[in-house]
Amino acid sequence: MSVAGKTAIITGSTSGIGLGIAEEMAKAGVNVVLNSFTDSDEDHALAARIGKDHGVAARYIKADMSKAEDCRALIDQAGACDILVNNAGIQHVAGIEEFPTEKWDAIIAINLCSAFHTTAAALPMMRKAGWGRVINVASAHGLTASPYKSAYVAAKHGVVGLTKVTALETAQEPITANAICPGYVLTPLVEAQIPDTMKEYDMSREDVIKNVMLQRQPSKEFATVEQLGGTALYLCSDAAAQVTGTTISVDGGWTAL
Ligand code: NAD
Repeated sequence: MSVAGKTAIITGSTSGIGLGIAEEMAKAGVNVVLNSFTDSDEDHALAARIGKDHGVAARYIKADMSKAEDCRALIDQAGACDILVNNAGIQHVAGIEEFPTEKWDAIIAINLCSAFHTTAAALPMMRKAGWGRVINVASAHGLTASPYKSAYVAAKHGVVGLTKVTALETAQEPITANAICPGYVLTPLVEAQIPDTMKEYDMSREDVIKNVMLQRQPSKEFATVEQLGGTALYLCSDAAAQVTGTTISVDGGWTAL
């Protein structure tokens, strides 16, 4: 069965991986709902551009993924949700003792709790439609840890756990739930970490990329948003109908170490 004509809601999709997944989905004929917490002309223009480029219905819905009611309202407002991509995420890097409580709370809310709320709201629509795909964008940090990323690592491990439970609760239905675990992808989220890391290690940008970020990525290359879009599309294909409750690493070998 083709995914063309299905509707995908991708949280946090005005930049980076979410936008890449939305773009690849639209290319395959999927109608897409873009989301972020802003409501600018650019947000709506981005959706209009994707719709026009790929001949699909594309719209933008504002919803703050740190708020439970916004997460559920996003799904309700979209009106249909065959494919749910829980992608919104933020990062903060600090040791546990210095980690600001409000950053911990925001990371857990946006990176983990939002996926629970959107999934709870989307499953009844998938059940009614008789088909569904839940795709959670976790991370290599959903499977392994790094220092100074306590909230992020905790949230991403939580996302992997939530994925497994979602898969078990839908196992006898034509619905699957899986987590994609990217290694480093050069998106605005990663770009923003470079200056602090340069300061912390007293290194050049090139050295931070090669010796810190890609130090644990054996391929020594960033994964790309197009590759992640392709992985999400694979999870929507018939070939992946029995792939559920698992993680797919797109990390250049990081978690093989
Ligand atoms: P990004 O910063 O480029 O994009 C994040 C998106 O989330 C943006 O559209 C932003 O507007 C949106 N967002 C942030 N806060 C939000 C909120 N409260 N409500 C709604 N939307 C919100 O980041 P990215 O690198 O593309 O990351 C996307 C996902 O991929 C995140 O979950 C991240 O943890 C995960 N990830 C990224 C990498 C990487 O190397 N970039 C690696 C592994 C996992």
